[in-house]
Amino acid sequence: MIKDAIVQFKKDIPDDVQLVAVSKTKPSSAILEAYDSGHRIFGENRAQELADKAEKLADDIHWHMVGHIQTKKVKYIAPYVTMIHSIDKLKTLREVNKRAEQNERVIQVLLQFHIAQEESKFGLNVQDAENMLFSDELKEMQNIIIKGVMGMASQTDQQDQIRKEFQELRKNFESLKEKFFNNNEDFNVVSMGMSNDYKIAIEEGSNMIRIGSDIFGARE
Ligand SMILES: *Cc1c(COP(=O)(O)O)cnc(C)c1O
Repeated sequence: MIKDAIVQFKKDIPDDVQLVAVSKTKPSSAILEAYDSGHRIFGENRAQELADKAEKLADDIHWHMVGHIQTKKVKYIAPYVTMIHSIDKLKTLREVNKRAEQNERVIQVLLQFHIAQEESKFGLNVQDAENMLFSDELKEMQNIIIKGVMGMASQTDQQDQIRKEFQELRKNFESLKEKFFNNNEDFNVVSMGMSNDYKIAIEEGSNMIRIGSDIFGARE
C-alpha cells in the first residue's frame, strides 16, 4: 500500500517537483516498502531517529532533516544527512559546516522562513535571512551549499490564507535569488507543501514537497 501510494504520488506531481517521503515515527519496514518502489528521498524530524535509521538502511538513501535541529545535535546527523531544511540561525549553519568538514562531506541546506500565522520561535523573516547572507563568515564555509528556502503554512482550512503564505515564501525565494544568488545555479529549491496543502504549494511554485501521512498513513 505504501508502495502504491508513492508510485501514484509521483505520477500525479509534475516531473520537476521532488518528493520527500517523510517517514518520521514510522518503522524501517515502512521505509523499505517505499524504497522497493525505487524511491530514495526520505525525511525525518528528529536527529537521533534519522541517525539510527540511516545506520541501518541502505547507503543510497538521501536523508533530509525537515524538523528543527538543535545545534548540539547536528553531529549525530552530519555523517548521513543530504539536506537540512530547517536552518534559521548562523550558529546552526556554523556547526553544520564544521561537522560536514569533519566528515569530509558537503551538506545542502535550506533557509526556513516563518510564514504561518501561528506563533513560532523557529524560522526567519527576510531581514534575518539577509543579515545572515551578508555575513562574511558565511563566505568562508566550504562544506555547506545553500540550496533554497523552506516554509510551513498555517494549519487552517482557509485555502486562500495558505496560498498567500506560499506566495510569500516564493517571493522571498525570488528576492534572495536576485540579491545573493544571481549567478548561482545551486540556489533553486522551494520546499513547501505537505499532505494537506501540497497541491496549492505546487501551484504557487514549490519544487519540493514533504509528504508524510498521505504516503505512510496517519501517525500515532
Ligand atoms: C511531519 C512533517 C511533514 C509531513 O507532514 P504530513 O502532514 O504528514 O504530510 C512535512 N514537513 C515537516 C517539517 C514535518 O515535520
